[in-house]
Amino acid sequence: MLIDLHTHSYYSDGLLSPKEVVRKAVNAGCNFFSLTDHDTLAGLEEAKKFAESFNLTFINGVEISAQQNSQSIHIVGLGVNPSEKLLIDGLKKNNQFRIDRAKEISEGLGNVGIQRAYEKARALSKTDNITRTHFAQMLIKENICSNMSSVFKRYMTGKKPGAVKGKWALSAEVISWIHQAGGLAILAHPLRYKMTLTKLKKLVKDLRFLGLDGIEVVNSFSSAEDIRISKMIADENELLYSGGSDFHGWAGQTIELGNIPKFDYGEKLVINYLI
Ligand code: AMP
Ligand code: MN
Ligand code: MN
Ligand code: MN
Repeated sequence: MLIDLHTHSYYSDGLLSPKEVVRKAVNAGCNFFSLTDHDTLAGLEEAKKFAESFNLTFINGVEISAQQNSQSIHIVGLGVNPSEKLLIDGLKKNNQFRIDRAKEISEGLGNVGIQRAYEKARALSKTDNITRTHFAQMLIKENICSNMSSVFKRYMTGKKPGAVKGKWALSAEVISWIHQAGGLAILAHPLRYKMTLTKLKKLVKDLRFLGLDGIEVVNSFSSAEDIRISKMIADENELLYSGGSDFHGWAGQTIELGNIPKFDYGEKLVINYLI
């Protein structure tokens, strides 16, 4: 059984259309697949329609940016109803911050001599959903950086010129939108927040208290040790298991859709709890 419950299309920071992403899931031999664009539901209808013509179970998804204290985190909603007003209105707030933030990022980059960054990053996005990935791709295209990780290190994080503090919706709100939309709330890539194990455990415990349903125990590059730690944290908090590649499809990215380490999800696979 193959699942991929974390992927992106060009409605957020992926390169491909929802149809092309579905095609990848079919070719990879996925049984369960979800499109989880950042803070948008725009690609779901196209993906669902196309997936239904194959032997592939499509799950409506979204990866929502959230604040937990000063930490920005990603919460994936799986099985959400894309017509739910509370969710739609909530995502609008995050998208307004995206636009304001993009202008701030652009100003910061302007201060170090990178002109018209907003316009150039916007030109790489099919929509108004401008992510840091678009800025990163723009800096690579302009030969200012050679790859994504160097962009984030040199320009987009910490006190670097294009870094802006997150002002996303609070995780409590995000979890409530997902639940109102009939979905399950999953903490994305728990080991990517650069937290100590003690802090991460506290984060998950706090989120659990707010209604978190599961965590991703497997991502593209999870080592056996990563999986062991993620599973332990899930079990300690009686959380469900999810897994996904976080496929984006940009040139130079080695992540492939459906290509995640094998894991025996058993009964606690999140799919079993979706209505
Ligand atoms: P945003 O949601 O606009 O803050 O952009 C976050 C996105 O940037 C993530 O979903 C990743 O796709 C990408 N990203 C963040 N950090 C890195 C990194 N160090 N290397 C490559 N991509 C990254
Ligand atoms: Mn992304
Ligand atoms: Mn993420
Ligand atoms: Mn993602």
